[in-house]
Amino acid sequence: MSFKDLPKIELHCHLDGSVRPETIIDIAKKEGVDIPSFDKNEIKRQITAPLECTSLNEYLKAFLVPNLVMQSKESLKRITFELFEDAAKENVKYMEVRFAPVLHTVKGLEIQEIIQSVIDGVKDSEQRYDIKGNVILSCMRNMSSDKALEVIEKGKAFLGKGVVAVDLCAAEEEGFCEKFVEPIALARKYGYRVTIHAGETGIGKNVLEAVELLGAERIGHGVFIKDYHEAYKIVKKKNVVLEMCPTSNVQTKAVNSFNEHPIYNFYKDGIKVTVNTDNRIVSDTNMTKEFDIVSKEFNITYEDYKQIYYNSVEASFTDLETKERLKELV
Ligand SMILES: [Zn+2]
Repeated sequence: MSFKDLPKIELHCHLDGSVRPETIIDIAKKEGVDIPSFDKNEIKRQITAPLECTSLNEYLKAFLVPNLVMQSKESLKRITFELFEDAAKENVKYMEVRFAPVLHTVKGLEIQEIIQSVIDGVKDSEQRYDIKGNVILSCMRNMSSDKALEVIEKGKAFLGKGVVAVDLCAAEEEGFCEKFVEPIALARKYGYRVTIHAGETGIGKNVLEAVELLGAERIGHGVFIKDYHEAYKIVKKKNVVLEMCPTSNVQTKAVNSFNEHPIYNFYKDGIKVTVNTDNRIVSDTNMTKEFDIVSKEFNITYEDYKQIYYNSVEASFTDLETKERLKELV
């Protein structure tokens, strides 16, 4: 199977983890941004996490440099366009990109301008390539719940115009969900769909709470439901979809190696799994590579690929018409 040629759907991809090194250098030159090096290989080294990374917290350090050049409308639009361009070139037909607007306010951009710029980048790419996209607003769970509330309030006007969902991301502490019950409930009331990073760093209970307290329909990673029966049960019973990212999970040491990844066991047991990159540059990967890894480790068949593709279409936060069109592609 050539996964490059097959149509693919990506539901879990962070904008700031997917910035081309040459673009970082180019924007830094144009906008006079102070970055640690103007050498492409050195920038690439600094923004790519090694497979021998020791933890999620170490992995997250790779995002510092990209965010330095993500502080203008033009750069946000360009970086989004280029991400979709890269995805389209490997036959990704639909992608949901996520980003945390608060990280792009350092030089005075307003939250609304930030969201609009990313949507503009998506729209540009849709004009140029055979790809469609939507936007997920991430809230930083290491910040206050008021910050999340602000993003949810300001993003509300973009629902149905490119924004589809809200997410909580960043370092994972046990019991983080409780702090965000109110803002996420409000988001649901406004019409945002909900996906939450949880169970990425050993804490399966967070998945249970993300579903029960926050109403998560999808879980970013969810690896550690494997060790927490109640979480496993609710994910299976409620058909909560797991956005799994094999390379990233090895880098953050959610699993020690690819063959220890629970994705295939979950899949065989009827859990709705999907395959994603998490971060194309930080994890030095793309959808083709992720499927190649899953295929190599677990010998998946074309039928398995198709099932995972359908899982992704069904779990996507796009409209019915787009879902139907995507289904026809395989
Ligand atoms: Zn993620």
